Amino acid sequence: MLKIAIIGFGNLGQSLAKTFAHLGHIVLAHSRCEHSKMAQDLGISYFSNPQELCEQNPQVILLCTSIISTESVLKSLPLQSLTHDTLFVDMLPVKEFSKALLLKMLPSNLAVVCTNPMFGVERGKHEWNGSFLVYEKVRIGSDSVGISLCDNFLNIFEKEGCRMVEVSCSVQDKYVAGSQFITHTVGRVLEKLTLESTPINTKGYETLLDLVDNTAGDSFDLYCELFIYNKNAFEMFDRLDLAFNTLKKQLFGHLHDIVRKQLFDSAEKVHAEYMVCNPSHNGAALRSHSQVLNQKAHISEHYDDKSMLKIAIVGFGNFGQFLAKTIIRQGHKVLAYSRSDYYDVAQEMGVIYLSDVEALCEEHPEVMLFCTSILSTEKVLRSFPVQRLMRNTLFVDVLSVKEFPRNLFLQKLPLDFDILCTHPMFGPESGKNGWNALPFVYDKVRVGSDKSRVSLCDRFLDIFALEGCRMVEMSCSEHDRHAAGSQFITHTIGRVLEKLGLESTPILPNGYKALLNLVENTVGDSFDLYHGLFMYNVNAIDQLNRLDMAFNSLKEQFLRRLHGVVHSQHFENASRTLLPNHPENAAPLRR
Ligand code: NAP
Repeated sequence: MLKIAIIGFGNLGQSLAKTFAHLGHIVLAHSRCEHSKMAQDLGISYFSNPQELCEQNPQVILLCTSIISTESVLKSLPLQSLTHDTLFVDMLPVKEFSKALLLKMLPSNLAVVCTNPMFGVERGKHEWNGSFLVYEKVRIGSDSVGISLCDNFLNIFEKEGCRMVEVSCSVQDKYVAGSQFITHTVGRVLEKLTLESTPINTKGYETLLDLVDNTAGDSFDLYCELFIYNKNAFEMFDRLDLAFNTLKKQLFGHLHDIVRKQLFDSAEKVHAEYMVCNPSHNGAALRSHSQVLNQKAHISEHYDDKSMLKIAIVGFGNFGQFLAKTIIRQGHKVLAYSRSDYYDVAQEMGVIYLSDVEALCEEHPEVMLFCTSILSTEKVLRSFPVQRLMRNTLFVDVLSVKEFPRNLFLQKLPLDFDILCTHPMFGPESGKNGWNALPFVYDKVRVGSDKSRVSLCDRFLDIFALEGCRMVEMSCSEHDRHAAGSQFITHTIGRVLEKLGLESTPILPNGYKALLNLVENTVGDSFDLYHGLFMYNVNAIDQLNRLDMAFNSLKEQFLRRLHGVVHSQHFENASRTLLPNHPENAAPLRR
């Protein structure tokens, strides 16, 4: 067991003290503020005076101080009287700086290890298992006592399940400082938005909530220090600003496109009429009748069970295809129709692809599943020959906003069609390993009371229930209230971060890993989807503004802090040079 003195008894110091004491080590602590009650509760000895702490001859002195205070803390220690074998370990988040400082301040007989624990952001959970502990043995004596003391100390973390990585401080800074700074910045901006958990959180939104939890608990001092002592921080802040502005320009540009299109609608109409007369110019050229018949014959061999549904997917893009895979696997018959030609993709999946909407309706699917983009749904529905469908066809949509398709279906569909509005709260990335426990929201907007209609709706819902989805029945308006804000923010953050071109590093702090996942989850989606969230969420502009304000307020907080630092430096320099009674000027004058 080791005798470990922790200097700096803040969040990190207390968390480490708890674990060390739990493992049976003797723990001593000292900090700027009075923490003796807390120390007593943890069963460790607290010293308000650092000299007295050092008189206890700790084997390890662990610096958990803020970056800015470390130099003065070291000055307050009786360094010359420490025993030859004392090992100094620091846990500062910027490594080149701390290494240089320790080498400058400590007598050469004292050993130095610089570490960077990557479990800081997981502090709330007291979980070290699987997190990285990155370290450099900066100065370890060659005698066996010094070597084994260092190994014993590092073993504590290894035994707790930390992934130990030995690299130089400069490499640590390269890998870690940048990613930590971005993670903390995003966490703090989001904290200002006071995000709230909803009953239908997506994985992406939960990532954001976790991030806020994990970063907002850290002191603002720590965050500022990451900025001040990280050479690249200013540039990163600028890039974040630029990325956000570029995204806003993109959104507003699209908005302008739409308005312009509406204004010049008549020209579009002429073009559309031309396309009808010249179908070969259409991207989804009509397939030959025999091609489609062959495909149907092939598929109907596998489709004889009457309990299975015949589902027509309208809009066979990214999400339509993703859903089709599971629906087909469950044995249902799937037809698809889309603007573009997906014949080959469909054939490979065992889906019958029809590029003619009339032909699709004449197949009499029991369910029409709309997987079109939010922006195009109205146009697609308007051009639908619904009179060719069977009565009691169930219309389902999966749009990421819900009140809009609900109202659209209610307005446009005759009363003998049923309406089920749904939102699978996952996508091809977050649902790639199965849909178990992922939320599936639905609202039976209009389902006829007779048995067959009720059963058709339930059999459709069973597709998702069977995959283990968490089935949440909720009105469309309640869905929009819960989801629209959280989704728009999640997608916006994902897209801003995408623009930064964040890179994976061999040492991934957990918070940063979560950001990389978020980017992966959101950028796979089309810009149309994101734009749909923006257009059909009445609060989107407000949310964009709030995000803007949060970012600006963080910048302002920074600016004030930087101003404070520079001001006090100047003031101090000035008093050193100008005031004859300043302590530093006093000696020469006396002489
Ligand atoms: P999307 O960009 O929202 O939609 C693409 C689909 O819309 C394609 O099938 C596309 O047809 C069709 N489309 C776009 N513009 C059209 C137009 N002018 N006329 C006719 N069709 C048009 O991407 P998505 O990810 O596939 O999403 C589909 C729907 O699912 C959206 O409403 C989305 O909100 C919802 N959703 C998506 C996810 C997800 O994670 N991706 C999750 C839940 C719900 P072509 O491909 O033939 O051009």
